[in-house]
Formats: sequence, structure tokens, C-alpha cells
Amino acid sequence: MTDSAQPIVIIGAGPVGLTLALSLPPTQPAIVLEARPEGASQDGRALALSQGTRLILERLGVWGAMEPDTVAINTIHISQRGGLGRTVLNASEHGLPSLGYVVSYSALSKALNAILPKAAHVQVIYEAAVNGVLPDKHAAMVSYVRGGRKETIETPLAVVADGGRSLAGISGIEKIHKAYGHDALVTKVSAEFPHNHIAYERFTPQGPMALLPNGEHDFSLVWTGEKNRIDAILALDDVEFLRQLHVAFGDRVGRFLSVGKRMSFPLQYASMKNSDAAHVAVIGNAAQTMHPVAGQGFNVGLRDAVNLADAIVKADSPIGSVQMLANYQDSRLRDTRRGLLFTDFLVNVFSNDIVGVSALRGLGLSMVDVFKPAKKLLVEKMSFGG
Ligand SMILES: Cc1cc2nc3c(=O)[nH]c(=O)nc-3n(C[C@H](O)[C@H](O)[C@H](O)COP(=O)(O)OP(=O)(O)OC[C@H]3O[C@@H](n4cnc5c(N)ncnc54)[C@H](O)[C@@H]3O)c2cc1C
Repeated sequence: MTDSAQPIVIIGAGPVGLTLALSLPPTQPAIVLEARPEGASQDGRALALSQGTRLILERLGVWGAMEPDTVAINTIHISQRGGLGRTVLNASEHGLPSLGYVVSYSALSKALNAILPKAAHVQVIYEAAVNGVLPDKHAAMVSYVRGGRKETIETPLAVVADGGRSLAGISGIEKIHKAYGHDALVTKVSAEFPHNHIAYERFTPQGPMALLPNGEHDFSLVWTGEKNRIDAILALDDVEFLRQLHVAFGDRVGRFLSVGKRMSFPLQYASMKNSDAAHVAVIGNAAQTMHPVAGQGFNVGLRDAVNLADAIVKADSPIGSVQMLANYQDSRLRDTRRGLLFTDFLVNVFSNDIVGVSALRGLGLSMVDVFKPAKKLLVEKMSFGG
């Protein structure tokens, strides 16, 4: 990195884009282009944070402010509907303070935004919707529209952190997509019994579901299944929704008492093909999209941001050069692949109804429960994600 560094341009002020900007040293300016208006994130979706993510947020100085809004997961209870066998992972058994944390997207965004004024090297431009990234040999041209005006910025490095939903067809950037054919319904529910800091992962033949403790008595629910089925569940009135949830989830937290606003989104697997394009990098959900079953996606995305900042700081070739970006990609390969494989494995093995598989799964879950090395591995995977 030189003393007169040119600004890198980050597309998207989501948690991953902001983490990258805030992880850069004061000598590396960054311009963040965000389509939404300032302070507009009221997103209720819940994110599962690993211990590694907590350390990253502590280093950035945002953990303290958001900690009151987080709920620690001390136990993860994994079971399957209609089959025997279950496993319980406990933080204390493994000498960990907790297995992870749950926070709402908006609380995390608020905490990250609150420290932006201290980062003089970061300029966030809101209501700037990027509609093109054109990398060539010398730089990338990033074009956006703001207040009806078209603007373009030239940068040695354009970082796409848009969550993967808006920018496609960037020259030299290719992705592999696989639709699971399933949707996820996310909402908040309250239950008869307190959560006691237990997260539940429940595998059903129709698809996995998770209940994450979020709030004093509430849970964030992720309920996945075929699109038609999820659409039908979305359309139920509250009473029938809560009844069907009880049937699908079982009795572990008693009856479900209330449900918040429900939304759904299609589940897909997406990963980057290795790229030799200069001047453009893709991170976070824009780079890889995982099924939310194991809560890995966001944590992998945050590590993208930190590793890219590190690659920028330590670059011994120009920022945005093919060499620098190849080093960054190499540093992410293993972690990303593991997250994708682990998640895909869980979805495929636990979400089918082939005769005999259910019994094998039950046996597998029971064996994990008694076989300490397997349990330790699962704890490492579920709590640190790599
Ligand atoms: C509907 C939905 C629900 C989810 N629910 C869960 C869940 O329950 N649990 C879980 O663990 N994970 C969930 N995920 C995944 C999780 O949200 C992501 O892992 C996480 O948000 C990734 O952060 P990010 O910063 O990469 O992307 P995002 O959080 O998507 O942030 C991208 C940012 O880029 C901005 N942007 C987009 N396009 C442009 C553009 N063209 N120009 C400028 N700015 C742009 C957006 O406004 C946004 O602020 C969900 C994802 C979606 C889409």
C-alpha cells in the first residue's frame, strides 16, 4: 500500500461492506456506495454469529454497543422429526463461553453505523444505486445513479458487497448457482417456555427448521420447505400458523403463543468461480450464498471482509492487481469451500425421506452424541465455522 492510496470503492453498506471499510487502515480511503437511504435498515432477520465473528466485531470496537441486543447460544439441540436420535452440543462441555450469538440485522447495522464517524478514511454515499462495474487493465469504472444523476468513479479496486441480488454480468466474474427449490420463511415467535439460551435445529422430511433464541422470551424462526408449501404457510392466519408450527417442531418449547411479520425468500447455493479479473473483488453474500440451516453464511462473509482488508494492507503488488486478488482468493478458498460443503451436506442428508435414511440419521445423531471427537468437530463447525 502506498502513502497516497487511491480510494477503493465498496458497493453495499451491509454488514460485510461496512466491516471491510472499517477494517482498512486510516491510510487507505474507501468510498462506500449504498442504494438505501441513510438509517433505513429496519430489517428484522436474525443472524447467527460465531465466536470468531464476535472477535472481529470486538476488534472493530462495535461489539460493546451491540452486546445488549445479542443473545448467547449456550446449547444447540439437533433433532429430526419422526425419527429417533438427537444430539446436544453444550458450550460448557467444550470450555467455551458460548456456542455463538443471535442478533438482529438492524441491531448489527446500527452498531456498525455508529462508529463510522470515527473512521475518517470512510465516506458512505447513500441513495447511490450502482448499475455497472466495468473492470479493465488499469482500473474499474463504477457507475451509479443518485438523485436522478448518473455518476462514475474510477478505482483501483471495486469491491462488490451488494448481497448478490443486484449486480450480475460483471466481466471476468462467474458464479455457480444451484437452486434448492426451497424457500425459507423467517419471522419471530414467542413460546410458552423460556429459551434458556438453547438454539434448536430440527430436520424434517420437508426441510430443516431452526429456532434461535432472540430477545428475552422470543425465538427467531427459520422454516424451510418447498416453495408451494412455504407460500401456503405464509398465507395461514396466525392461530393456524402457530398450530402448524407446533406440529412441525414438537413440544420442546411448549405451545407457540404469537408470531411477528412473516417473510420468505428463495434458498440457493451460489459460489464464485476462480477469477483472474483485475480491479474487482466480490465478498459476503454476493460471493457465496448458503442455506441458512447451519448459520454459516454471514460468518464466512465477514471473514471475506477481514481477509480482503488484510490482503490490501499486506499487498506487495499494486492494489487491485491480478496478483493481489489471487492471493486474496487463495486465502479464502478453504474456509468458503468448507462452509458450503458442510451446509450442503446437512441439507442433503437431513432433508430427504428415503426409507431407511431416517434410521441411519438417527443412529448418526446418537453416535455423535456419545462419540466425543465427532461432537468436538461439530461444535467447532457450528460455533466457529472454520
Ligand atoms: C431475505 C433474506 C433473509 C435472510 N435471512 C437470514 C437469516 O434468517 N439468518 C441468516 O443467518 N442469514 C440470513 N440471510 C443471509 C444474510 O442476510 C447474509 O448472510 C448477510 O446479510 C450478508 O451480508 P452482506 O453485507 O454480504 O449483504 P447484505 O446484508 O445483503 O447487504 C448488501 C447491501 O448492499 C446494498 N445494495 C444492494 N445492491 C446495491 C446496489 N446496486 N448499489 C448500492 N448498494 C446496493 C443493499 O441495500 C444492502 O445494504 C438472509 C438473506 C436474505 C436475502
